[in-house]
Amino acid sequence: MDRQQEFVLRTIEERDIRFMRLWFTDVQGSLKSVGVAPAELENAFTEGIGFDGSAIEGFARVYEADTLAMPDAATFQVVPWRGGEGAGIGRMFCDITLPDGTPSPADPRQVLRRALQKADERGFTFYTHPEIEFFLFERDLDGEGRPVPIDNAGYFDHLAQGDGHDFRRAAIDMLESMGIPVEFSHHEGAPGQNEIDLRYADALSTADNIMTFRAIVREVALSQDAFASFMPKPLAGHPGSGMHTHISLFEGDRNAFHEPGAEYQLSITGRRFVAGVLHHAREISAITNQWVNSYKRLWGGGEAPAHVCWGHNNRSAMVRIPMYKPTKVQSSRIELRTLDSACNPYLAYAVVLAAGLKGIEEEYELPAEAEDDVWSLTDGERRALGIQPLPASLHEAISAMEESELVAETLGEHVFDYFLRNKRQEWSDYRAQVTPFEIDRYLRQL
Ligand code: GLU
Ligand code: MG
Ligand code: MG
Repeated sequence: MDRQQEFVLRTIEERDIRFMRLWFTDVQGSLKSVGVAPAELENAFTEGIGFDGSAIEGFARVYEADTLAMPDAATFQVVPWRGGEGAGIGRMFCDITLPDGTPSPADPRQVLRRALQKADERGFTFYTHPEIEFFLFERDLDGEGRPVPIDNAGYFDHLAQGDGHDFRRAAIDMLESMGIPVEFSHHEGAPGQNEIDLRYADALSTADNIMTFRAIVREVALSQDAFASFMPKPLAGHPGSGMHTHISLFEGDRNAFHEPGAEYQLSITGRRFVAGVLHHAREISAITNQWVNSYKRLWGGGEAPAHVCWGHNNRSAMVRIPMYKPTKVQSSRIELRTLDSACNPYLAYAVVLAAGLKGIEEEYELPAEAEDDVWSLTDGERRALGIQPLPASLHEAISAMEESELVAETLGEHVFDYFLRNKRQEWSDYRAQVTPFEIDRYLRQL
């Protein structure tokens, strides 16, 4: 056992932790949890906890043998929403391996680890800082089966004794008690919509933090008699929930995106990274925006990006270069606005990083900046400027992904094939539906 593992065992004893939860994520981004008695932990650290991989979404019946969950001691935290005196609960994220110790090809956390390893070989550390938007709804749907937001407030509104306000305070307390620092929080544009921004961290920690964030936000919402939804576009006619992510690459202590005197202080490495993310935007879209509903957000207005372009402080662009603050040289970064709050963060960060690194490796040229509000241009104007649309539907996104060597290589064959199979099924299930829109529009039409 290493020192971190010994530290976990000591803490468990000192803090009287009675239950341990081992967490991991399936290919679709759902959190999975297995409980082990603290007495089993020493064994879990050395030999892992066996489980039937075929029962988990995406782990499929490919391997005969059991799959192992190997707890990552660096992620140990005490869970604040359950357990009390003498009944404490701890949790750790796991890496999933095969019985021979090799990484499970179905584990999204291993996919991200592999992508980070590639960056590391080139001397880069990948930092991310997500702005996570989500909705708070009443626990019950209305008479017509639609969700009811808990308030009617808008962007940055201050709610006196408002539910959202109390909610955010409780959620932030819990996040910080689990070692997840929060930078900003505010009411977002739609009724019941909130945003909480996490401080930047290496992408593996960020992805773990996002999984923990979703669990905490759900728990706090339930404790306040509401429920939290990360669905990309729950309300037609209101903005959806994005998970804009601020990104930088560091070489040691140096921010590789920062170059004093360059345009927007963005280094050539930064420009090539952005070029990579734009060049591959359509093929990685099924991963960054993985649901049928994701495309309702991208194409439903509400400040979500719909076109492949970048701009300086241009909120209609897919990639925004935020205003440079001379006192914060290290914070030079880009903001990617496509991701939504219901993506699998491990897979999404892996493909974004791979696209950016490809741009650096192949020395992609950054196209001209979009200066106008791209939403208000006509299709012809956008075409003249060389601005492509993002996929219009999950179907288009799948078709773009199918052709992508970059995505196949980054996800590995197993996740790539499973993901496409699963998404084709989702699309055909969706296509078979007759929606209220159609009944409304066509039933009495002729
Ligand atoms: N909710 C918007 C989106 O879906 C973003 C609003 C904002 O700029 O924060 O991307
Ligand atoms: Mg926002
Ligand atoms: Mg933003």
